[in-house]
Amino acid sequence: MAERITGHTELIGLMAYPIRHSSSPAMHNEAFAYLGLDYAYLAFEVDNSTLEDAVKGIRALKMVGSNVSMPNKTVVGQYLDKLSPAAELCGAVNTIVNENGVLTGHITDGIGFMQALKDNDIDVIGKKMTIAGAGGAATAIEIQAALDGVKEISIFNIHDKFWANAEETVKKINERTNCKATLYDLDDKEKLREEMADSYIFVNGTGVGMKPLEGMSVVPDKSFFRPELIVVDVPYSPLETTMRKMAKEVGCKTMNGLGMMLFQGAAAFKLWTGKDMPIEHMKEVLN
Ligand code: NAD
Repeated sequence: MAERITGHTELIGLMAYPIRHSSSPAMHNEAFAYLGLDYAYLAFEVDNSTLEDAVKGIRALKMVGSNVSMPNKTVVGQYLDKLSPAAELCGAVNTIVNENGVLTGHITDGIGFMQALKDNDIDVIGKKMTIAGAGGAATAIEIQAALDGVKEISIFNIHDKFWANAEETVKKINERTNCKATLYDLDDKEKLREEMADSYIFVNGTGVGMKPLEGMSVVPDKSFFRPELIVVDVPYSPLETTMRKMAKEVGCKTMNGLGMMLFQGAAAFKLWTGKDMPIEHMKEVLN
């Protein structure tokens, strides 16, 4: 008889649509098995129309919690009892924790990003960050960076449907943290050059570089980089983007989005189990 799942095994979910492509179930179940923890992590196809019932199901089934991904991240908060400070500021949730029927929403994407920097010996606290992006990933990074003590953030975005969100994020950071945030138009390349010039780190928090925008870069050419600048991509497929290739040619230290992905999962894992994810083992398995 299989011993992995028994009557005692506790359930953790992932609610999103589409979701069958996700690597989170493999990652979490590998970590449970490696540490001998009696949990199972399963993906459920849940969209906005079934989300409220699914969240009620977390309470009814006494599940430990769940991850939440698109299209539910900005919608699920209204069905929960509490939100972490970062989830409240982001207006998004990717992790739900069930404590005796009380559901708390967290956002671990930004925590994962900051942890991935630390893991690469990159210390941004008290320094200036320039970042492109105002969508889910970028907002989580901007809010967490501000909460953690990054001194200044220059945010660039194109004038698309995310612009209003960028304005909102800048307002929240300036009103509610000690960080100074400013928003600029990503099409103003001379402004981008200027802001990158005195930044410690540049982050591409957009989908540019990843399919279907593969081969494109938010930074036009190599002259925008200098060897001391740290250059980070949030996209992770392909692992090597045009932007990071250019930055490497100039001699910049760079990081791709895989670390953020791993550490956002590790932060959720810790919230559910109280245990540290076996990071070095997971890196071996994921590579
Ligand atoms: P989103 O749809 O919420 O936001 C998209 C962002 O890209 C917006 O800022 C938008 O203005 C910008 N954008 C889109 N097309 C552009 C273009 N042609 N030029 C310039 N900017 C453009 O997406 P998201 O969830 O924030 O994801 C963004 C990227 O981050 C994706 O590649 C996603 O796979 C990746 N991601 C990585 C992690 C991780 O853990 N590493 C987590 C979440 C998302």
